[in-house]
Amino acid sequence: MKVAIVGAGIGGLALAQGLAKAGVDVAVYERDPSPQHRKQGYRIHISNVGEQALAETLPDAVRRRVIATATHPGDLVAGFDAQLNTQFEQVFPVAGPDAVTSVDRYAFRRALMTGLDDVLQFGRQFSSYAETDEGVEIAFADGSSATADVLVGADGVGSRVRSQLVPSQDVRDIGVRCIYGKVPLTSAVRSLAPEAFLRGFCFVGDGAGLGTAFGPVMFREPPAEYGDYLMAVLTGTNAVLGASDEELFAMSPGDLWALVQRLVGDWHPSVRALLDAGEPEAAFPITLRTCITVPTWSSSRVTMLGDAVHPMTPAAGAGANTALWDAARLTRALTSEEDLATYQKDVVANGQAIVTESLHNAERLFNVSIPV
Ligand SMILES: Cc1cc2nc3c(=O)[nH]c(=O)nc-3n(C[C@H](O)[C@H](O)[C@H](O)COP(=O)(O)OP(=O)(O)OC[C@H]3O[C@@H](n4cnc5c(N)ncnc54)[C@H](O)[C@@H]3O)c2cc1C
Repeated sequence: MKVAIVGAGIGGLALAQGLAKAGVDVAVYERDPSPQHRKQGYRIHISNVGEQALAETLPDAVRRRVIATATHPGDLVAGFDAQLNTQFEQVFPVAGPDAVTSVDRYAFRRALMTGLDDVLQFGRQFSSYAETDEGVEIAFADGSSATADVLVGADGVGSRVRSQLVPSQDVRDIGVRCIYGKVPLTSAVRSLAPEAFLRGFCFVGDGAGLGTAFGPVMFREPPAEYGDYLMAVLTGTNAVLGASDEELFAMSPGDLWALVQRLVGDWHPSVRALLDAGEPEAAFPITLRTCITVPTWSSSRVTMLGDAVHPMTPAAGAGANTALWDAARLTRALTSEEDLATYQKDVVANGQAIVTESLHNAERLFNVSIPV
């Protein structure tokens, strides 16, 4: 059997590792021209679900790379108001030396690519597929093609595989924008940061819809390109940010960061000082999207995983973990006698519960109402 995976994101790479480990002929087609193309690191929380899926799918050497390039585990999740008065605080036992509790997206993807040189094909943007009696014919934007017995859409929230397989799927903008940024953890920044910000994920909110999430990324082994940093993400609606999408998405990284600094101008001096130490050229805006109902589809040869099936807001910290769960579940299906319909049933049921939880969390966290 030959399996073609569209998308070398978190779910697609984990699936490729699981299949290659089981001896399945697998190819991954990624639209980016190279693995170095996007270095926008941000911190991804890995839950027990994600960790278990990694343990199940990855060969030992790859798992060791993931552990080596993960961040040192934190022990705290806390919320503050804009003047840094604690609103809630949860302390956890510090996880062991082999635990993976959060990762930098770029470093994580690079670790997941370990040993896949013959499997990964960059610069291959999927455009459509056709099912035949023998298998699936896959067409790429550059006019090239490929064939496989099974095609897996692991191509994320804007999935083209999904738009052909489930043309009616509803992916909604929840009306919240993020300005993502990075504060390099120099010794000066480490001494001015509130202690909690270096211990775990912290959310600072003004109670009126403007928030900033902070999360430390302190590597066990940093990537060659950059070192430890504090993730800093500003969130709010266009009205709260005082900028339309046209304005926001046309801004230079420096202007985006200046907007962040302006918006928190009357917040606690430590927060302002931290953001003043940010790396303006690392800033970029993101639109938060979700589905409401996870779709079903009918095909015995084409299937999907991760955000392609169940795009969700980051408010449950679960999108990547669910993509890893899907990858482990699909590895089991494709390496046994099980049919893809049973895999689909499980992925839709599991995904729907998490999408619903993420919607509730997003309404509370971002102070928005998401009509269902
Ligand atoms: C700000 C933010 C913070 C987040 N934090 C967390 C967190 O803490 N924990 C968590 O679990 N989740 C988190 N998430 C969600 C998580 O990032 C996603 O759910 C996860 O990346 C989905 O993995 P995936 O493999 O389905 O898709 P992706 O990782 O998005 O990968 C899709 C891949 O497909 C490629 N692709 C797309 N179209 C094509 C095409 N036509 N042809 C070829 N290739 C294509 C893309 O280039 C990409 O490499 C966060 C998301 C955001 C936006």
